[in-house]
Amino acid sequence: MTFNEFNFKDTLNQAIKDAGFTEPSPVQEKAIPLILEGHDLIGQAQTGTGKTAAFGLPVIQQMSGDRGVEALVIVPTRELAMQVSDELFRFGKTAGLKTATVYGGTAYNKQIERIKQANIIVATPGRLQDLLMSKKIKLNPSFVILDEADEMLDMGFLDEIKNIFTFLPEKRQTLMFSATMPKQIKILAEQILDNPKSVTITKSERTNTDIAQIFYVVADHERDDALLRLIDYKNPNKCIIFCRMKKEVDRLSSYMTAQGFKVAALHGDMEQKQREHTIRAFKQGLVEIFIATDVAARGLDVNDVTHVFNYHIPFDSESYVHRIGRTGRAGNKGEAITLVSPNELRTIKRIEKDVGTVMVSDVIPTRQEVQSRKDSDLLAKIANTEITPSAKEMVKTLQHDLDIVTIAHLLATIVQKEIDVKGKDIIGLGTEEVKALIERAKNWKGGDRNSGRGRGRGRNRSRGGSRGRGGDRRRSGGNRDSRNRGNHSSKKRSSTNV
Ligand code: ADP
Ligand code: MG
Repeated sequence: MTFNEFNFKDTLNQAIKDAGFTEPSPVQEKAIPLILEGHDLIGQAQTGTGKTAAFGLPVIQQMSGDRGVEALVIVPTRELAMQVSDELFRFGKTAGLKTATVYGGTAYNKQIERIKQANIIVATPGRLQDLLMSKKIKLNPSFVILDEADEMLDMGFLDEIKNIFTFLPEKRQTLMFSATMPKQIKILAEQILDNPKSVTITKSERTNTDIAQIFYVVADHERDDALLRLIDYKNPNKCIIFCRMKKEVDRLSSYMTAQGFKVAALHGDMEQKQREHTIRAFKQGLVEIFIATDVAARGLDVNDVTHVFNYHIPFDSESYVHRIGRTGRAGNKGEAITLVSPNELRTIKRIEKDVGTVMVSDVIPTRQEVQSRKDSDLLAKIANTEITPSAKEMVKTLQHDLDIVTIAHLLATIVQKEIDVKGKDIIGLGTEEVKALIERAKNWKGGDRNSGRGRGRGRNRSRGGSRGRGGDRRRSGGNRDSRNRGNHSSKKRSSTNV
């Protein structure tokens, strides 16, 4: 279907065209008609599915633009407030609508001035409650949107939200969006929504087929080298590496920096200013690699992230979906890469089942493979390079003493030496070994239904079992290992002692 079928006004159609949207996403297709009919709505869909436009477009369509703040959007973080207001500004500007962003940590007066000029405000709960309770502003919006409701709950904003609603008019259209629907959010919905319609994007609709999901089985002590090798091989434009803990983020950032990558850490307890600064640097490409915790990267919308790396597989399926949704955005292709140790394979199986997705396994490329990849990149580059006048001069000078083939060889040697294959050689696991481990994981009858604790137990139980043996054998020495692998690995692998 196309956006034309919604019969939006011309200004809005123009804005959609300017944004480069050609067809509505599933959540937009379902939600927009219901909102246009005036219903309250609960929308459940994962991040990256286009929820902002799902409410933004039909709300803007219905706005008159001549009676102050007509739409109020409440979002959990300042980050999201800015993102959402940017997006709404894009849709509203052709109709002359003004957008204001309201969050803590900035001066009141300017903000209040802007609110008074605005037609749409996007606010975080704390500052909004503050302004309403101190009677610094009074709002009478026809549309109230609660975005990322589950995140608000996680961040402890439930009371603020309830309180804010006591300041809002009874007569209003209320829309609530959430990636998940915990019980407290359902209860909140009953309190603030009037006879709502629901839109849920099912698993099959929400799995973004533009994200390739690949996992690599490595021993725990090989994670750093595996990561380096993969980044070197995949050569991402921008990527995010996810860690479970802040501590790990810090350690990995220092390590990657020492390896010569342009990285920045992003975690929950960073100062807002610093955080924004970091995100801007990432958007501008000054930083190529973000190393982040789940919380820090929630809702992060950077369009050209080509790869997401899970340094460890996340404990729960929701986090996995949130994490991989940072790539493959706005119709781009993306790759989500997960490093797992053999005992984490059960978690892979569980997430695949929960999310309704398939992850495929691959083998860590060898140094040699990275080298060949870089060589062919170089050849492609040579074919596409225009010769500069100064280069011509240089070759002319060299030709006084050397023949042209020798000059070419020398230059190629210099360039090749610049290509640096990072990381020491690691063992990794061969395809057949991984297959056998996955088969075993499938038949696993033990724990791992739950998050962290389950995994811990599983790990202890499997020690000395099949996984333990596999791991020890690989660690015990090069010769035996290379023989084993040589028989069944589809890719040629070098062994430990090469
Ligand atoms: P969500 O709120 O569900 O996480 P967003 O509203 O932030 O998702 O949208 C994610 C990205 O997809 C944004 O960059 C947005 O501009 C883009 N987008 C949304 N809808 C469409 C569409 N119909 N066509 C193309 N891109 C879209
Ligand atoms: Mg959103």
